[in-house]
Amino acid sequence: MTKGTPSKGKRDTKTHIRCRRCGKHSYHATKKYCAACGYGRSKRFRRYSWQNKKIRGNRLK
Ligand SMILES: [Zn+2]
Repeated sequence: MTKGTPSKGKRDTKTHIRCRRCGKHSYHATKKYCAACGYGRSKRFRRYSWQNKKIRGNRLK
């Protein structure tokens, strides 16, 4: 087993598929939740105060 670029081709198990809610390729196929919007994990959209400076107010705290 070699590390690096040649071994990357062996990874054929897909972890993230296209999300039904946000449309991003971040929905985890086995964990059943989206890493980008939190679909399958929570009803509300996954967002954090540190990810976007445009979001004013810190209700998540
Ligand atoms: Zn999503």
